Order: sequence, then C-alpha cells, then structure tokens
Amino acid sequence: MGFPHPSHPKETVLLSRYFGDAEARTYDGWVARGGYEALRKALAMTPEVLIEEIKASGLRGRGGAGFPTGLKWSLMPKPDGRPRYLVCNADESEPGTFKDREILRWTPHQLLEGCAIAAHAIGAERIYIYIRGEFTEPLKVMRAAVEEATARGALGSNALGSGRRIDVVLHRGAGAYICGEETAMLNSIEGRRGNPRIKPPYPAQAGVFGMPTTINNVETLAAVPHIVTRGAAWYKGLCLGNPKSTGTKLISICGHIQRPGNYEVTMGTPVKEILYDMAGGPLEGREFKAIIPGGSSVPIMTREEAESALFDYEGIVEKGSMLGSAGMIVMDDSTDMVYQIWRLARFYAHESCAQCTQCREGTAWTTKVLERILAGKGRAEDFQLLLDLSENMTGKTICVLSDSCAAPVVSGIKKFRHEFEAYIQGAREPAMVAV
Ligand code: SF4
Repeated sequence: MGFPHPSHPKETVLLSRYFGDAEARTYDGWVARGGYEALRKALAMTPEVLIEEIKASGLRGRGGAGFPTGLKWSLMPKPDGRPRYLVCNADESEPGTFKDREILRWTPHQLLEGCAIAAHAIGAERIYIYIRGEFTEPLKVMRAAVEEATARGALGSNALGSGRRIDVVLHRGAGAYICGEETAMLNSIEGRRGNPRIKPPYPAQAGVFGMPTTINNVETLAAVPHIVTRGAAWYKGLCLGNPKSTGTKLISICGHIQRPGNYEVTMGTPVKEILYDMAGGPLEGREFKAIIPGGSSVPIMTREEAESALFDYEGIVEKGSMLGSAGMIVMDDSTDMVYQIWRLARFYAHESCAQCTQCREGTAWTTKVLERILAGKGRAEDFQLLLDLSENMTGKTICVLSDSCAAPVVSGIKKFRHEFEAYIQGAREPAMVAV
C-alpha cells in the first residue's frame, strides 16, 4: 500500500492519510483504498438529502472565509434548464500556504471524488478545477487522474453507471494572486482579465459564463467523501469543544520553526501543541516573537496571543486574528517586524488588480511610507498616516485584497510599535537606502 505520511501522533490524519503514497495517485490504487465508494453512495442519494448531510456535518469552507459548505450548496437556484457549474479553487497562492498542493499531488482522486459528489449535489454537469499556474507537478498528476477516472467510468457521460454526466475541465492559472479571489477566477476561466467582480450578483445567481455556479476550495471538497462515507455525526464529532468548528484542518507551518511542513489536526487543538509538540518549537537559542496564523492576509498575533489560542475559526478570532487559509507563518526574536510588514505590503501592492483607488493607491503608499521608515527617514506622524491609509483600505473595495494589506500594518503598529519607533527615532540602523 505504499508508505504512509510520516505523521505526528497528535495529528488526526484524514485528508493527508495517503500523502507520500504514490499508489494512491492511480485509479486502481485509490479504489483499493476504498476510493469512489463515497461517490457511489452519494449518487444514490437525492441532492437534497446530500446537502442536508453536509450541512449537518458542520463542514465550513477551508479556503479562508469559513462559510458553511452545505448552506453554500443550498443557495444555488432551482434547476431551470440552464447549465450549472462547480468551480474548484486550486489557485493556492496565499503566502505561507501549501496544503492544497499536497492534496493535488498525492490524492488527486480524493479531490475528484469530492468534486463529483458536490457536482451531483448542486446539479452541475461540468466542473472547472482552476489550478495555480506554477503548480507544474500537481497539474500533471491531476491531468492523469482526470483521464483515468474518465476512462474508467467514474467521471464522464455516465458517472459510475448512474446516468449522471460529470465532466472535469482543468484550467491552468497564469500567475496572478488575485485570480484566487472567486469572482476574478470566474473572469479568468471565461478568458477575461482576472479582475474581481462587484457582488451582488453572487456566483450562485450569475457565476461562470453568467450561469449558476458554486465555488469551493480544494481542502473543502476533499473532506466531502469522508463525510459521505462515515456520516455527518462522525465528522461533527471531530472537534475539541467548539461545535461551530468541526472536522480536521490541514495547517501549513513555515518560517522560524524546527519542523516546518503540513500537519492535520482536529479543530480546536491548542496552537501551543501544534507549535511545540508537532512542529518542534523555535530554532535553537531563539524564542517565538510573532505568528500570522492564516496566510499573510490576517492580523499578526503576538507569541502570547498565539500560544493561548485554540486552533479553530472562533478560537483564533478570540485572540485577535483569523484562521484564514491556516498557513502559519512563524517569526522568532531575530525578526525585524517593520521589514516583514513592508515585505507583505509590497506583495499586495504588486498583486493589486488596480480597479479600486483605495487599493491601488493605498497599497502603493503604504509600501512607500514603510520604505521611508526603514530608510531612517520616518516621521512621528507616519503612524497616523499608515493608520489612515489602512482605514481607507478596509471594507471599501470590490474585494478584500486591500483589507489584507491593511491587516498586518494595523496589527503590527498596535503590537510592535516600539520597533517602528526605533527606526523613526534613529535608535536602529536603517534597513534600506532612502528612495
Ligand atoms: Fe482589485 Fe484591490 Fe479592488 Fe480587489 S481591492 S478589486 S485587488 S483593486
């Protein structure tokens, strides 16, 4: 059966069970591991019953927003003869996040099975899987899996003999971070520039090619076959106290830590256990200083906040941040926080699609002001300037890229103000040359 994923005893290995197992990538290998039985079971259920089962499981979107999956499926309009689509968001580009990549690389049929079940639930005959352009190997693996699953009859015009048509189209991205935003993705699939769309209308009303569309993340869809096989009650039981956050969560950990990598935990696991027991704690002679728990788009947590938090949607919010993509960026006491915040701001300035003035100008000016501070030319009023810019960038734009740039700036000033002051007051050597 190949070699298993070298998991830590404190992990709850569900989606990642076959990571590292090359045989699980093939159709026969997946079937030998119980694969496609969930799809068979789901195809025998009515879409309504299936949606109720996913609702009862408590599964929430793993891409960042945490929206209840069953509820999202139920928002599709009643079938009216028009085509309907499922879009799988595999454009994983969030800094510090690399968990969907492993699902695509090692268990492509786990994802395809989840996609096919979701397509049945929402009445879609075509699924678009939008894969990040840089994911060369995952794309190759997914192509082979789609071809095999179609040739073997799990997908195609008569999926598993059910009479249901389920086709999968792989769409490769071209390198833009913003195409991970769901409506930008729809434009990109249509061959347009990947600009986010104003909502409403929401994708369920007018999605890809103007048709009803549901968009789900890779990890969300990969969890679906497990719920169908073992039942909503079992999945709901995978939680450590908070019934609003159920199931398991894949976490990518990177930065200043002994054992970076992907870990799968039950929702509600203490962050301290993840950082110290599973990932091995800080590098020798160092201490953690700050952690960004959900990719780069969420507020920075201090070590104390992170170490007292529970890892689930509400637990992280309670300590001042958000779960986001669960890409955990760990920074130790050697980190220059002003420099790191500047790097994040520069990233968002580069990736802004430039439709909204607040985002186009705000991300660029934030980057420039931070550069001025890092060059030793900062002014006392720069704090207020950065906070004003951030306020104008929050909740006022077409998508949340602008908010994502503001979050680390505002939390950084609030929690590490002394590091900014050290540059402004000349107590710290400039980290860059004035521009
Ligand atoms: Fe584009 Fe930024 Fe506006 Fe989003 S917030 S639509 S990235 S300009």
